[in-house]
Amino acid sequence: MKLPSLFLSHGAPDLILHDLPIRDFLAGLGATLPRPRAVLVASAHYTASIAGVTAAGAPRTIHDFGGFDPSLYTMQYAAPGDPALAARIVALLEAARIPARLDEQWGFDHGAWIPLSLVYPTADLPVLELAVNPHAGAEYHLALGRALAPLRDEGVLVVGSGAMTHNLYEIAPPAGNDRAPPWVHAFADWVGLRLEAGDEAGLRDWLAGAPHARDNHPSTEHFLPLFVALGAAGASWQAARLHASVNYRALRMDAWRFDAAA
Ligand code: ZN
Repeated sequence: MKLPSLFLSHGAPDLILHDLPIRDFLAGLGATLPRPRAVLVASAHYTASIAGVTAAGAPRTIHDFGGFDPSLYTMQYAAPGDPALAARIVALLEAARIPARLDEQWGFDHGAWIPLSLVYPTADLPVLELAVNPHAGAEYHLALGRALAPLRDEGVLVVGSGAMTHNLYEIAPPAGNDRAPPWVHAFADWVGLRLEAGDEAGLRDWLAGAPHARDNHPSTEHFLPLFVALGAAGASWQAARLHASVNYRALRMDAWRFDAAA
């Protein structure tokens, strides 16, 4: 079974509490995919200069956000880990000459557990996380994903969880505020055109080439997971947009699916 890889925009953690298009999309996503045996999430909220891979058997739910509805802070996502798979992932990365380490401490940050609690609400699949490196660029994260492409044949769903656009200085309530300014759409449209065209060279140059790249990503960690997901589809890939909407005015919630090119 060859699984696709996915890029998901996780938005603000309270998306799970509101009647939003992204919540409906995520809640229906699991049924559209072959059932994986495990999920590996490269999360914007797990950052490290060496590629950490979570290795706890019973990972903790991390409430790494502030100022949201109190009900969010009591939610737990009780999926198991998979220490043996974590070791396999570290071995794949090291074989690709990418420094990596097992991380017994990190659990599920909200970049993983918020979307997964909608996609796989029964929390019965093992879930692991992979750290992104905000000091590295597209090249490094593509290489991370490429090293992990064999996992797709082993029933592991590779997910990059970040945001198509993510300028928190420009967000405005309510959660369903979909009146994004033109510079938000300009960036997401540019990325979409290049994904659909298979223009990997253009995408690698996103910081210089995309319109309003820095306006939409004052820091890069929420965009980099896209490259992990893209890389995991293999050297020759095709992309399909699964979803687009806006959360809190400035957060484009696009979701993309990547498969090996036919
Ligand atoms: Zn985030």
